Amino acid sequence: MSTRAENHSPPVDVAIVGAGPIGLELAIALRHHGVSLRHFEAGSIGRTIVGYPRETRFFSSPERIAIAGIPLSNPRQEKTTREEYLAYLRSLVAAFSLEVETQRTVVSIEPRDGRFVVGVAPSIAPPPESPPLPPVDRGAPIEEVDAGRVILAIGDMHDAHAIGIPGEDAPHVSHFFHEPHAYCGRSVLIVGGKNSAVEAALRCHRAGARVHLSYRGAELPERSVKAWLLPDIRNQIRSGGIAFSPETIPVAIEAEGVRLRGVTTGEESVHPADFVLLLTGYDQSPALFRAAGIDVEGPLARPVLDPETMESTTPGVFVAGTAVAGSQRSHRVFIENSHPHVARIVRAITGREPPFTTDDTSLAARDLPES
Ligand SMILES: Cc1cc2nc3c(=O)[nH]c(=O)nc-3n(C[C@H](O)[C@H](O)[C@H](O)COP(=O)(O)OP(=O)(O)OC[C@H]3O[C@@H](n4cnc5c(N)ncnc54)[C@H](O)[C@@H]3O)c2cc1C
Repeated sequence: MSTRAENHSPPVDVAIVGAGPIGLELAIALRHHGVSLRHFEAGSIGRTIVGYPRETRFFSSPERIAIAGIPLSNPRQEKTTREEYLAYLRSLVAAFSLEVETQRTVVSIEPRDGRFVVGVAPSIAPPPESPPLPPVDRGAPIEEVDAGRVILAIGDMHDAHAIGIPGEDAPHVSHFFHEPHAYCGRSVLIVGGKNSAVEAALRCHRAGARVHLSYRGAELPERSVKAWLLPDIRNQIRSGGIAFSPETIPVAIEAEGVRLRGVTTGEESVHPADFVLLLTGYDQSPALFRAAGIDVEGPLARPVLDPETMESTTPGVFVAGTAVAGSQRSHRVFIENSHPHVARIVRAITGREPPFTTDDTSLAARDLPES
């Protein structure tokens, strides 16, 4: 049980929660206008991107994921990799002297006298294979920070989406794919058909694994797979390089293998596998929305927001970035169409424009691929 630490830190205008790309862009704009800040990040800077498999290439063009108008380039003039983007984010933090408090999780937000008391606890350093959001050190004292406004740029990928079948927690089963070499010479059954699953299947295959892909749909969903991967995976399936079981779902992971059931036929078959990767998406944690008393709506539990300002139903608490989308399944809110959130919040708080362009009407959500 945590205790409350004595608070000697001065009050600030704004507390930003989350140092992903959008939290960083907000910090740059608000500091430019002289807003005093505390900025908390449960993990490391860009923690969601840290969780991508190594050497993943973004599907977005570099200019669309660039932050605060600072160019993002690479020697190939191609899509940015995970490693390049993390280096870019680190450079921005250094160049703008952003004071991000990493490994610090916001655990409570309480309105008090027209301001907020933001409770902050240390996170426990995550081992590489841990779930995306690091656990909080429950024994450590909670610091109480006095902030006039709070911005939640907390993202939407806080934990793996569990499918709830027997054997899901077996040691050879994971919801996370980090890199393909570990599967060399072994059999791996991958569940999923969107980009993460397709990319993992191709990379494991090329690293010398025997790959079997199980997907509930009859066809891989074109809008959810990077355009350059689709012909590749189709060729591998056609030539037998990767085994594909369309219209199947896993119903149990047993000692003998993964039990798949035909979605339309109901027939079951067991497939031996040394490793099982359940790449079935992520869930957003509702904890902070609840803590702040923010109303959510719909099956994805999206926060209810004023679209002009991004202010939530708790006045003074704003939401930005993919956090606005709830637990999105077919991804429609990304970095590239979240930049306008920054402008709306900066306008609402300071009455001024950010010192860079964020609005790009060509980036309507409907035009973007799902992921
Ligand atoms: C493999 C992969 C490829 C992708 N490719 C693209 C792409 O090409 N283009 C694109 O636009 N998007 C892409 N995405 C999605 C992209 O990662 C998100 O759009 C982006 O990270 C959202 O930025 P954000 O700042 O809104 O949130 P995030 O980057 O998710 O940042 C939120 C931060 O908040 C922190 N946080 C959460 N809760 C707390 C708390 N209580 N206290 C303190 N900190 C907290 C988290 O640790 C995290 O660092 C991809 C995702 C994956 C998995």
